[in-house]
Amino acid sequence: MQLSDKLETKFPKLDENQKKALRRLGLFSVADLLFHFPVRYSDISVVMKISELMPGDTATVYGKVSKLKTKKAFRSKIPMGEGEIADLSGKIKIIWFNQAYLARMIKNGDTVKLTGKVTASKSGIYLANPEFEKMPDMPIDSHDTLFKKGEEKELGFSYPIYAETRGITSKWFYHAIEKILKERALDNLEDHIPEDILKKYHLPTLKTALVWIHKPKNIKDAESARKRFAFEEVFCIQLERQHDKHEYKKNKSFQIKTNKGETEEFLKRFPFKPTKSQEKSIKTILEDMEKTFPMSRLLEGDVGSGKTAVAATASYMTVNTRPTRTDLPAGRQDFGNLQVAYMAPTEILATQHFESFIQYFKHLPINIGLITGSGCRKFPSKINPSGWTNISRTQLLKWVANGEIPILIGTHALIQKSVKFKNLALCVIDEQHRFGTAQRRKLVRKDNIAPHLLSMTATPIPRTLALTIYGDLDLSLLEEMPEGRKQIITEIITPNKRGATYEKIKEELQKGRQLYVICPRIFEADEQQAEPNEIFYPRGSRSAGEGRSGKKFNSAKLVKNPLEVKSVTAEAKRLKKEIFPEYEIGILHSKMSKQKKEEVMQEFTEGKINILCATSVVEVGVNVPNATIIIIEGAERFGLAQLHQLRGRVIRSTHQAYCYVFADAKSDKTVERLKALKTAKNGFELAELDLTLRGAGELGGTKQWGITDLGMEAIKNIKMVEVARLEATRLINEDPELTKYPLLKSKVKEKAGEFHFE
Ligand code: ADP
Ligand code: MG
Repeated sequence: MQLSDKLETKFPKLDENQKKALRRLGLFSVADLLFHFPVRYSDISVVMKISELMPGDTATVYGKVSKLKTKKAFRSKIPMGEGEIADLSGKIKIIWFNQAYLARMIKNGDTVKLTGKVTASKSGIYLANPEFEKMPDMPIDSHDTLFKKGEEKELGFSYPIYAETRGITSKWFYHAIEKILKERALDNLEDHIPEDILKKYHLPTLKTALVWIHKPKNIKDAESARKRFAFEEVFCIQLERQHDKHEYKKNKSFQIKTNKGETEEFLKRFPFKPTKSQEKSIKTILEDMEKTFPMSRLLEGDVGSGKTAVAATASYMTVNTRPTRTDLPAGRQDFGNLQVAYMAPTEILATQHFESFIQYFKHLPINIGLITGSGCRKFPSKINPSGWTNISRTQLLKWVANGEIPILIGTHALIQKSVKFKNLALCVIDEQHRFGTAQRRKLVRKDNIAPHLLSMTATPIPRTLALTIYGDLDLSLLEEMPEGRKQIITEIITPNKRGATYEKIKEELQKGRQLYVICPRIFEADEQQAEPNEIFYPRGSRSAGEGRSGKKFNSAKLVKNPLEVKSVTAEAKRLKKEIFPEYEIGILHSKMSKQKKEEVMQEFTEGKINILCATSVVEVGVNVPNATIIIIEGAERFGLAQLHQLRGRVIRSTHQAYCYVFADAKSDKTVERLKALKTAKNGFELAELDLTLRGAGELGGTKQWGITDLGMEAIKNIKMVEVARLEATRLINEDPELTKYPLLKSKVKEKAGEFHFE
């Protein structure tokens, strides 16, 4: 069998439904199937025959359930669930006391593995309060095989379990892989990871790893196979990023020589003293911009840590300094008027930056432009030198092209083809995670002069993830908040304290302050319209067993039915009717039109709306200084880092700010976890906590960062990430186009959607 063989020809017995299912999963060739990994393994070596169970055993049995029902106990009236499980050797009664819902989570006829205590009663033995794991049909056709002595060894420690989808079963996968391995499809498979790297880090070869991941002899083998594939993924991402960095640095850039005096002069004009972190970042950035190749730096800092001031300083130095480099193409010696492009993800943010920049630059003879979808502005206006004026797009583009507007702030509109700069020397990208790498490349000019690049983000992510996804950028961190900033008073509110909390909030509203209410959903639960999350998937948004490939490596855990979750629309109505009838309440969510959203935001900014009910995804970084209170509903569903980001919305004020984290959970563990919000230093610390407490699966994976769940397993492991980065950097430095490693190169190309190896 060959890896490139089509599944439909190699498996002629496939029926229409199976073929459809394979196509739906994107599995066409033998190779595709080999790289479709089990989601977990189930240990069946512990399974006992039902006929041999003795009272007092804690036993695991495997079989089909029937006669499921719920009822109230005869005397005590406690709710209980009942049923029966049968294997070929016999059957036994099951009783769940107090957990009647368990009997509702499985159906008659389901195949399950149950672990519980064998208990004697007057009417015989039963299995008390067993935990259950739903199982696909076993690969073995007869139950007998399961119990034949000596065979377990050959079968391995456990069975791989593949995600089932309509039309195709886990069992089918098991047998298909079996056939592929038997027919020696792997014989000619070459490894794309260089041998010395595998040896150095004790990783199995591709061939071995494939066998181990599908048919592990023991849990260690399975783990080491997964480790290899996790490493491989991070390594490939790193190679792509390092290559990108290497390429970008090949461009020329305007060399911006600054002097200390001037920087200090500019900084003095701020109405505040920069923090140590801000000073340090400014210094690093200015050093970067003096070099002959372009800077690629990411400035990470919590909301409110003052990234704009850092970017403004770099912008000032850029437009104020005559570059000294002389090796630019002939005809490009007119160094005056270097330019800055400042890109923000939304019109609101772009407009806010425009206004901040006017404050920072109003004493200087510097024109500032604003370009967004809805129009253009220029500062200063001819009539009013301290204000701005609307100008036409054509006029603005003309002034940008001839260099008369040195600082241009805007949305995506900035990178449209029609926007031509004369001497673009610095590009600032705010909230950079909202832009792709491809958009950044558009900024490089034809004559290979690339702007220095300053990306900024407030998204708190663990260091390992940052090193991976931002592998092409140098990192600067704003770790501290400006001095004198009032701490947000954060309280974890359990259901019994709801009323008292609303009373406290009313006092603030009476003083004229405004309130955000964040709800996990847009509409009511029966409409099932959960909002896609910014960073973390809400807890329970996927139920047990339907995790994506690689997510549920360990046996599926029980997940209770998601609690009733508050929705923006219903909660706004309820608050108006029951709690805050005297206040204006507005709503904001992603299903509203862009225009409607801006209207609501505007009314909130102007104070016409007192209370804004919104989902977690809308508008980060918007500045409404009078909004000093935030309620977060259903907090147990969010990651700590995300809660921290949400709370950041009320940080921008001189008034005392409050964050009320409403948790419905009764579990102390949840409340303990949420308490970290009161103690952690910054968002990064919370992101690290999320990673350790809730695992990499909670970080969003594929959708958010372009990393599979398997790859995310590597993110838990700082050593692995550092090694991958180190080796990738070494390889790219030695051989930027990976000419000596053609297999690896094609793997990287295949994995990275927008890979730019030529
Ligand atoms: P972010 O990092 O979220 O973009 P901003 O740059 O918008 O934060 O800054 C938030 C607020 O803090 C602004 O009002 C800004 O003027 C103020 N600020 C920035 N740096 C300092 C500082 N060192 N001391 C006091 N206030 C500061
Ligand atoms: Mg900002």
